[in-house]
Amino acid sequence: MNKALGCLWLGLMLLGTEGSSTQADDSALRPSQQAAVETIVRHESQLKVINKAIWEFAEVGLEERRSSALLVEKLNASGFEVQTGLANMPTSFVASYGSGKPIIGILAEYDALPNLSQQVAADRVAVTDGAPGHGCGHSGLGTAAFGAAIAVKAAMEKYKLPGTIRLYGTPAEETLIGKVYMQLDGQFKDLDACLHWHPASVNNVWVMSSKAAVSVKFSFAGTAAHASGSPSSGRSALDAVELMNVGVNFMREHIKEDARIHYVITDGGGAPNVVPAKAESWYYVRANDHRDVEKYFEWVCDIAEGAAKMTRTKVKIHIDTDCHEIIGNRPLAEMLHRNLTAIGAPKFTDDEKMFARKVQQSLIDEFGSKFSLAIDESIQPLSFVDEPNKGSTDVGDISWFVPTCGLRVACFAADSPGHSWQNVACIGSTIGEKGTITAAKVLAVSALDLLEKPDVLNAAREDFTKRMDQRKYTSLIPKGQKAPTKIR
Ligand SMILES: [Zn+2]
Repeated sequence: MNKALGCLWLGLMLLGTEGSSTQADDSALRPSQQAAVETIVRHESQLKVINKAIWEFAEVGLEERRSSALLVEKLNASGFEVQTGLANMPTSFVASYGSGKPIIGILAEYDALPNLSQQVAADRVAVTDGAPGHGCGHSGLGTAAFGAAIAVKAAMEKYKLPGTIRLYGTPAEETLIGKVYMQLDGQFKDLDACLHWHPASVNNVWVMSSKAAVSVKFSFAGTAAHASGSPSSGRSALDAVELMNVGVNFMREHIKEDARIHYVITDGGGAPNVVPAKAESWYYVRANDHRDVEKYFEWVCDIAEGAAKMTRTKVKIHIDTDCHEIIGNRPLAEMLHRNLTAIGAPKFTDDEKMFARKVQQSLIDEFGSKFSLAIDESIQPLSFVDEPNKGSTDVGDISWFVPTCGLRVACFAADSPGHSWQNVACIGSTIGEKGTITAAKVLAVSALDLLEKPDVLNAAREDFTKRMDQRKYTSLIPKGQKAPTKIR
């Protein structure tokens, strides 16, 4: 195919019948990047099938066996060298193509959330009552990361580009586990840069930081006894859980406003007529700065010890994970913004906008929410106002060691709440598919920038070094502790 025909073909594909989601300004892209976009366009149907399959599997963290296996199978079939079961997590993997430096990483997630099973429908209807659902859109997240990786590989082959592209399969993002333990295992240490994305209700570069968070279980042990017949012979572990919660709720007034502490009681005893000998609570302690998490965690532990003393019970403290805030990177953010602009935000049909409006209606009815848009088709300007995201992500732990940046692409109705059935419906629909395909393109052309333009990589490294001055990574996870095999 000659060059002119190639461009024409690409143009036709971009406006093609698959309901292409973007109108690329391909003048801003180099031939290698155009080739990557072309690969993604050719694989659109396959990417939709993968998103749908992972969406239907809807497996929670550390149990994403079928989702992970599907991506591994496709990566093997696409000529990647794949290793699985890293850092004691059977559903983790790394897929690699190429050799030598630079080494560019792309992150894939594929875990679902409990109790969010939902059909692709604008009303709350579960596929299976009580089953998990993709309320954070990770079916699309993993799919786009896969699409980007195969597109980068195709461009590397065609243009004989040196370097290595790696796709990381990172389990259990929702419980902040996969990347934390993979990082502790040294999986990212030789990367030159790392890219990620997240399904969202906006299109922008993710320049914000995030909250550091420790996830910890407090298990109290007392003595069982008949609650009415012989309570004086019993010591209630549940009393300890309750007193600890009261203590923490009084502590709240005296912590920084950006800190967040939340808990659930995972074991509160078996029956009212038995003094509970065992009880357990699960806490998240979060703050914008990991140093604050360390301080508040110590305080919460003191309260737990106090509750144990008050109730003559014993407490065991087990840290599941400890995740760090994201360290931003300006040159990577600028590059991603350029590429998001070149690829363009996804565009949606009237039917898709109508579906989004119906999804929003449930929030208007229940909460009086107001929505000015059905789905966001614009790209937000790049802004470095540093207001950290109120959530946490284990992407943060990679960003303490490697220049890291990501983007967000509209896959949900505008202004949708996170972790909602509304988002499960949208990521499983053509709205989510379009956002996913856009994200794959932006990630692919950005990885190619990093492989081909040493100046971007150098600037990213310089920015990283400056930001990391005086910062030291410390982890509350006991040294040598393996990743959990189950979270609940
Ligand atoms: Zn997520």
